[in-house]
Amino acid sequence: MRLLVVEDEKKLAMSLKRGLEADGFAVDIALDGTDGLWMATEHPYDAIVLDIMLPGINGYQLCGQLRDAGNWTPILMLTAKDGDLDEAEALDTGADDFLRKPFAHVVLVARLRALLRRGQPERPVELVAGDLRVDPAQRQCRRGDSEIELTSREFSVLEYLIANVGDVVSKRDMLDHVWDYDFEGDPNIVEVYVRHLRRKIDEPFGTDSIQTVRGSGYRLIETSS
Ligand code: CA
Repeated sequence: MRLLVVEDEKKLAMSLKRGLEADGFAVDIALDGTDGLWMATEHPYDAIVLDIMLPGINGYQLCGQLRDAGNWTPILMLTAKDGDLDEAEALDTGADDFLRKPFAHVVLVARLRALLRRGQPERPVELVAGDLRVDPAQRQCRRGDSEIELTSREFSVLEYLIANVGDVVSKRDMLDHVWDYDFEGDPNIVEVYVRHLRRKIDEPFGTDSIQTVRGSGYRLIETSS
């Protein structure tokens, strides 16, 4: 199993390398984001351990660029202590898991082994409902010939709706799948995102694809402009 560790604190990078090698992994180190992206692109790693704050490009950008390029190598992101926002962001940009610094080596190894067992997710295919098309790998959304710009969270909400096209999904389902498992904020946040989405994917095209199912949730149906 070959790992890439992208970490700019040299001492930490070296101790990670020594520790992981002692656990039987082959480990390459990149000390900045630019090198990390290049190495991750050039070599087939089984998993990547990725720090967020890096010189060059940061961990979020690195992760986003790899996913945009269709690279689905499992990524474990290292987040700062008490970094709740970091963690939401980490999952939003396509990381598979995160670990809060400082961490125990045994925990790191356990989480890596769990990621490796899950293996590389298959590249998702394009999702279609009428003339609405969502490409999760490229993070692109189109209706007919028009490309629609969505924020990362809007995209995730739409991706979940279109993956369940024709079925009612509850706000709770959406919170569980799109936000993280510990989300304890106001569930009405879902309504806000649905409203934004309607303004982007329906209103300009005269379609009405996101239906409100009273008391239950929402349903995306096939419509064409
Ligand atoms: Ca750092």
